[in-house]
Amino acid sequence: MDKKPNQHFETQAIRTQMERSSYSEHSSALHLTSSFVFEDAEEMRASFAEEKQRAIYSRFSNPNTSEFVQKVVQMEDAEDGVAFASGMGAVFATFSTFLNAGDHILSARAVFGSTHALFTKFFPKWNIETTYFSATEAIDHLENLIQPNTRCIYVESPTNPGVEILDLEALGKLAKKHNLLFIVDNCFATPYLQQPIHFGADLVIHSATKLMDGQGRVLGGITVGKKELIRALYLFARNTGASLSPFNAWVLSKSLETLAIRVDRHCDSALEIAKKLEKHPRINGVKYPFLNSHPQHQLALKQMKKGGNIISFEVKGGLEAGRKFIDATQLCSLSANLGDSRSIITHPSSTTHSKLSQEEQSEVGITPGMIRLSVGLEHHEDIWNDLKEALDA
Ligand SMILES: *Cc1c(COP(=O)(O)O)cnc(C)c1O
Repeated sequence: MDKKPNQHFETQAIRTQMERSSYSEHSSALHLTSSFVFEDAEEMRASFAEEKQRAIYSRFSNPNTSEFVQKVVQMEDAEDGVAFASGMGAVFATFSTFLNAGDHILSARAVFGSTHALFTKFFPKWNIETTYFSATEAIDHLENLIQPNTRCIYVESPTNPGVEILDLEALGKLAKKHNLLFIVDNCFATPYLQQPIHFGADLVIHSATKLMDGQGRVLGGITVGKKELIRALYLFARNTGASLSPFNAWVLSKSLETLAIRVDRHCDSALEIAKKLEKHPRINGVKYPFLNSHPQHQLALKQMKKGGNIISFEVKGGLEAGRKFIDATQLCSLSANLGDSRSIITHPSSTTHSKLSQEEQSEVGITPGMIRLSVGLEHHEDIWNDLKEALDA
């Protein structure tokens, strides 16, 4: 797989491909095998000694997984990467590789629910503590939160479900100044819209389950970054077993060929719908990064190519009105996923974030009537008609 740096994002995504097999297939072959065969004892010895680079066992590497990794590495402008069975597999392995007992994490408060569970329920078992900061906190205030044992700064941007934007460049500079790892979960933006490495990120994590698959079929995860960091992560990953299945890698690798064209459509439709929602009398407020009304609109324009596919908005009337509204939608699915070709609508306050107190919910930008919409690839007029009919009902 050779990299051609002069090619565009889409072209590299499509033309990066593993070596063809003896059958000369056009689309990549699926290597559904747990292990690989050696010519002789010497080749096996040299492979285990890493003198020879080749596949040994699919927990370590597999041609389909490597193809998927290579594509994401190019998209993020990283040096190397490791694929995982899920986004959470990537998050857990990344922290476990680089943190020691007694270390401290400085993290944005609005993180994915299971990441929040790692920070608050599981990492304390190893005496790893986390301090949260809010998305809108001034960067110079963050400096006061850094402790002698702080090891990393961790963020997601845009955040879920509040759709707030964090200043990646400022955070990257702060991390560098204090010699901290800067780790970004880039799942909501995708590398097509935002490349955190260009703003100083050391490691970038994805749940490939979301927009990378984009069709709601398989789970997957990946972490990419600098070569020496990825080497350490790889050694942890191959010994702990949350490896991506070759089948899922094959699906995801094919999906990446259409990432740019899909994300373009997701974002264009989301902007159309966000503008219409903003004008509707039954709506109290709309949060979408590429609306002028978004408090961090300028920052979003600086670090993102388009606004993403997630809109959050507040239905007048609070919690009950929010629940009634999603029940009245016909087209949009009620589902826990996002970034699917099918539009998905959720009510975070009573579902994904129901375990947080009202105060904690408001700290991560959730109000009782807030709705999160993951805009799909249906025609934007049909999505809007569904929302409008539900609002009018
Ligand atoms: C979904 C998600 C994850 C977890 O990914 P899985 O593939 O479901 O394990 C992590 N971070 C973000 C931002 C997500 O949306």
